Amino acid sequence: MTETVHVLSYKKLEGKVAIITGGASGIGEATARLFAQHGARAIVIADIQDALGQSVAKSIGHGQCTYMHCDVTDEFQVKSLIDSTVETFGSLDIMFSNAGASEKLFAINTRGMAACVKHSARAMVEGRVKGGCIVCTGSLIGSVGMEEFIDYVMSKHAVLGLVRCASKGLGEYGIRVNCVSPGGWKECEKFFEGIMGLKGLGAMKAKDVANAVLFLACPDSQFITGQNLIVDGGTKL
Ligand code: NAD
Repeated sequence: MTETVHVLSYKKLEGKVAIITGGASGIGEATARLFAQHGARAIVIADIQDALGQSVAKSIGHGQCTYMHCDVTDEFQVKSLIDSTVETFGSLDIMFSNAGASEKLFAINTRGMAACVKHSARAMVEGRVKGGCIVCTGSLIGSVGMEEFIDYVMSKHAVLGLVRCASKGLGEYGIRVNCVSPGGWKECEKFFEGIMGLKGLGAMKAKDVANAVLFLACPDSQFITGQNLIVDGGTKL
């Protein structure tokens, strides 16, 4: 007897409202596009590159994706971003705190990330959101030592500490907090090759990280919290 194999294909974020900081380019942009494909009801791209962010939102579709200026180093702007998202769309289900840079490291990568976690968690708890998810972008070198980049390494180690603490406190509200830690992709290939010896699966693409974020943001990972998912294609350290 021939067995019929049903391949289940479903939209993993149907009806969800998501904010993506640093969504105007790179990993954030790729994630916004993937969230849209997976049926998110509303995606708010938050960034400081207004023209770029607006054009990404427009290309995804204004009914589903909007842009809002938010400099994550300013906690007031972070609070406004989150409050206005809840006011406009009725809830906040997913926060992808992804904005990061190699300058103003602690203001953006550490304190900015903490402000995003703090205010999104508050909004989820106040809104009694079911299955709220927070995903923070760390880095492959956020869990290893590398003297040449001590400030960056420290700023990204802090992301892991934040994720671990927040996941403990928010578990009782059903809110999960996880970290995605990218290696380096094509543009960074030389850098990683020189420093780390990029081997494994080769050069990473933004979509590779976006796929991991989708997993951490959807019910497929409903019993996973406080974890660090490294997406480096097997780069050897
Ligand atoms: P990217 O430069 O394409 O995207 C970062 C985005 O963050 C940009 O759109 C930028 O405008 C925005 N941003 C910067 N400062 C901001 C601020 N103060 N407020 C709001 N938005 C701000 O780079 P990317 O590689 O997609 O970076 C995304 C994340 O991935 C970062 O946290 C970065 O540290 C991390 N990461 C990147 C790599 C890599 O190889 N590129 C490796 C490991 C981790």
